[in-house]
Amino acid sequence: MSDKIFVTRSSMPDYEEYCNEIKKLWDTRWLTNMGEKHQQLQSELTEYLGVEKVDLLTNGHMALELSMQALGLEGEVITTPFTFASTTHAIVRNGLEPVFCDVNPDDFTIDTSKIEALITEKTSAIVPVHVYGNICNIEEIERIAGKYGLKVIYDAAHTFGEKYKGRGVGSFGDVSCFSFHATKVFHSIEGGAVCFRDEDFGKALHNLKNFGIKDPETVESVGANAKMNEFCAAMGICNLRHIDDEIAKRKLVVERYRNHLDGIEGIQLNPVQDGVESNYAYFPVIFNKSIFGANRDEIFKVLNENNIGARKYFYPLTNTFECFNGKYDVTLTPVALNLSKQVLTMPLYADLKLSDVDRICDIILSCRK
Ligand SMILES: *Cc1c(COP(=O)(O)O)cnc(C)c1O
Repeated sequence: MSDKIFVTRSSMPDYEEYCNEIKKLWDTRWLTNMGEKHQQLQSELTEYLGVEKVDLLTNGHMALELSMQALGLEGEVITTPFTFASTTHAIVRNGLEPVFCDVNPDDFTIDTSKIEALITEKTSAIVPVHVYGNICNIEEIERIAGKYGLKVIYDAAHTFGEKYKGRGVGSFGDVSCFSFHATKVFHSIEGGAVCFRDEDFGKALHNLKNFGIKDPETVESVGANAKMNEFCAAMGICNLRHIDDEIAKRKLVVERYRNHLDGIEGIQLNPVQDGVESNYAYFPVIFNKSIFGANRDEIFKVLNENNIGARKYFYPLTNTFECFNGKYDVTLTPVALNLSKQVLTMPLYADLKLSDVDRICDIILSCRK
């Protein structure tokens, strides 16, 4: 049987390139706490992402969690359940109440026509998620946030390097958070970044990622430890050199999938959004059993039997997690609930062989009844 195909595979620079990047650390012995590599990656990312300011953190989750803390949010936060655990957990871990809004059936991002009905006196922010590289309805979110005086924190973990109408996607909202986890389009092994404009916010965030320590004798906030170390920053520096090439290769893989699956009855793919320069982060396929003839779980099983690792992503919805003990009414987000039962994300990484894509699609199509 052929080797297992995983749903993702981390991109790596040449071994020599990375070794060269970390060599100096043996001389300086400066391994963490905002060293040279941290500074270099931060400034390169500011440029690449087309944003005003960037701060680097240990991971995307801490980027979200500490951003919310630095903004001093209170009360309720409007968000979506069709996301990774991190988005909802960051809200709850800040002592905030998540209020779940449904998503659009075509691009899986927050349905902005349903936000205003969820706003109360306690609402302090909107936390929308750009899903699978699809960008939220930024104009509507800006209009609503402006009208009600709400903060906007984008979970931009899926949209590294994307542009919307020529502008870096991280430049929208009060804050945009990226994840540089090993499985993402761009990674620093583990890592994350917060993009922002406001200097006071930047100071508060920087402080929170280092225990709230302002100077050796002044601790001004109850901070965490979320500093990116030099080895991770060095990996980021290396990967950033090759990112455009990585995205171009992903594009070829996505086009190959589309050649096979576009227009097949009972299958829905990611939309091609107007004004969006995509990063080809994920290849989700939504299966409508009554038309396609097989449901998501059946196809998942057949792919697994063929040593192909598709992923039920995002499933289950965050508002159904056991840790919330049935606190949230999932019937209030029916579109998200339905999607979570029908979606499979397919293997996608820069070096995935096009012949493997052909084989995966053949298997998917052979499940039709
Ligand atoms: C990966 C991811 C995160 C969390 O990022 P980590 O770097 O793994 O902490 C948050 N939100 C979404 C949507 C993600 O995909």
